[in-house]
Amino acid sequence: IARKRFGQNFLTDKQVLQDIIQTIAPVSGDTMVEIGPGLGAMTRLLMDDLDQLHVVELDRDLVVRLQKTFDQKKLLIHSGDALQFDFGVLPVPAGKKLRVVGNLPYNISSPLLFHLASFTALVQDQHFMLQKEVVERMVAPPGGKSYGRLSVMLQWRYAMSLRFIVPPTAFDPPPRVESAIVRMIPLEAPLACNQQALEQVVLKAFSMRRKVLRNCLAGMFTENQLIDAGIDPTLRPETVSLEQYVGLANRLPVAV
Ligand code: SAM
Repeated sequence: IARKRFGQNFLTDKQVLQDIIQTIAPVSGDTMVEIGPGLGAMTRLLMDDLDQLHVVELDRDLVVRLQKTFDQKKLLIHSGDALQFDFGVLPVPAGKKLRVVGNLPYNISSPLLFHLASFTALVQDQHFMLQKEVVERMVAPPGGKSYGRLSVMLQWRYAMSLRFIVPPTAFDPPPRVESAIVRMIPLEAPLACNQQALEQVVLKAFSMRRKVLRNCLAGMFTENQLIDAGIDPTLRPETVSLEQYVGLANRLPVAV
């Protein structure tokens, strides 16, 4: 019954499910939302420890199944697209924050991560299953092939770590690639920066990976402006640190 267009690969490996729950460590009193509960493999285990759980599911047939399977006083089902979902509407007790989890549909993982980045102030932590290659890009330090737009734009806002790798055999149907669990914790004090300005600099910088920064950023910064910002213009974009990108973004005229 899995639907490809909804990125449906259902987790079936019991050990992997246990390992994920142990990593998330749900505690009674947590306000948690699961994105894409599917048939409810993770949902069921999360609910063992929680008083209530919110879920956001796009596939209406799965929503009906979830409604039939679970006690709707404990499972609060939001039928719709997580990319459009306003996570700010979920009721969170005073002094507490939201925990976000999910075995995400891989076809929308980047836009979903960016959508969630606008809610960091409300969020305690996020645990996601993603393509291993995507997680590697998220957590990559400068200097390697994996370091790029996703690394800079997310490391600016989150402390992130790859927890463990999950093989295709843990799913039905098995995806074509390896997966990994990532933990994301919003930084309490991210470097001051305008997000659109950072996005503009990073997009331009990484549009030509094999060139030096001076050429990548031509039209945006002169060679002298790079030197003034304390950045060697002959660096390659993948060796420029987050702090240096933020420094450049802060020198751009404020984006609209
Ligand atoms: N959590 C289940 C599991 O681990 O077995 C299912 C994971 S499956 C990889 C992804 C789930 O996300 C599917 O249930 C799919 O219908 C749902 N989904 C796909 N696109 C979505 C979207 N834009 N918003 C919310 N859910 C979505």
